Amino acid sequence: MQLIDGKKLAKKIREELKEEVEELNKKGIVPKLAVIMVGNDKASSVYVKNKSKACDEIGIKYEEFLKDENTTQEELIGLIQKLNNRKDINGILLQSPIPKKLDIREAFNCIDDNKDVDGFNPVNVGKLSIGEDCFISCTPYGVIKMLEAYNIDVEGKQAVIIGRSNIVGKPLIQCLLNKNATVTVCHSKTQNLKEITKQADILVAALGKTKFIKEDMVKEGAVVIDVGINRTEEGKLAGDVDFENVSKKASYITPVPGGVGPMTIAMLMYNVVKATKIANGII
Ligand code: NDP
Repeated sequence: MQLIDGKKLAKKIREELKEEVEELNKKGIVPKLAVIMVGNDKASSVYVKNKSKACDEIGIKYEEFLKDENTTQEELIGLIQKLNNRKDINGILLQSPIPKKLDIREAFNCIDDNKDVDGFNPVNVGKLSIGEDCFISCTPYGVIKMLEAYNIDVEGKQAVIIGRSNIVGKPLIQCLLNKNATVTVCHSKTQNLKEITKQADILVAALGKTKFIKEDMVKEGAVVIDVGINRTEEGKLAGDVDFENVSKKASYITPVPGGVGPMTIAMLMYNVVKATKIANGII
């Protein structure tokens, strides 16, 4: 079994981006990310802090817009439109969740598709589905970069994704399909799940259930990617995969923490640099 070290790979990507940003700086260009947070979700605060740390490290400027939970839909949309029009802002990220009374879909739809570094705008979602260059949602993008970095051949392989959320499962279907995998997607209504997961050459768990994937659900020699980030009762971080037992059967496996998580942030940084290059006519 080989461990797919997301932490190490993410560090390498951040270092490469730092060099790219230094080159941009020489041309007088400074990438800048705007992050909007509405309400005070504790987990979001941690994610946002990690993102700002990564920006600092790479040389991406960072501006935070913290709105209280009484923010109206009009105020949120107004803020996004203001940021769409600001030339110094290259990427806009709306941290989810936001208070339930607000319509997050409408808000994502308003983000300029050239500043949509999370890849949630329908233009980018649509482009991904027809295989055009676009901003790819950061977690699926991170998964693909991991497979590429470890030279894991995807073409013609049976890939099974568990989870069909708009931010992970669905964009990952397109990413794997674009790489010529044969993709099956499972969800909470899937019957005979184990029979399907046992067919997988590449198994991606993105359902959000601690240690749900047991060794008897996995084919010998499968590549296992664990997207899950869950808190155990003891407050520890745990993935969707029972790592200790599944790792004995897998050919490659990602750990939690230190797997997909750091890659998600690295790919966000990648998308901000890409947005900056688009805004400045470099690509
Ligand atoms: P969602 O809750 O939005 O989606 C979960 C998906 O899993 C749904 O499609 C659901 O099916 C499916 N599902 C739930 N239970 C089962 C089951 N018993 N059997 C089969 N399918 C099931 O979660 P997210 O996609 O947002 O996140 C998934 C996990 O990934 C979470 O642990 C989250 O914390 C983590 N995550 C990690 C990231 C990272 O950077 N590493 C980034 C984003 C998320 P249905 O559609 O039918 O309800």
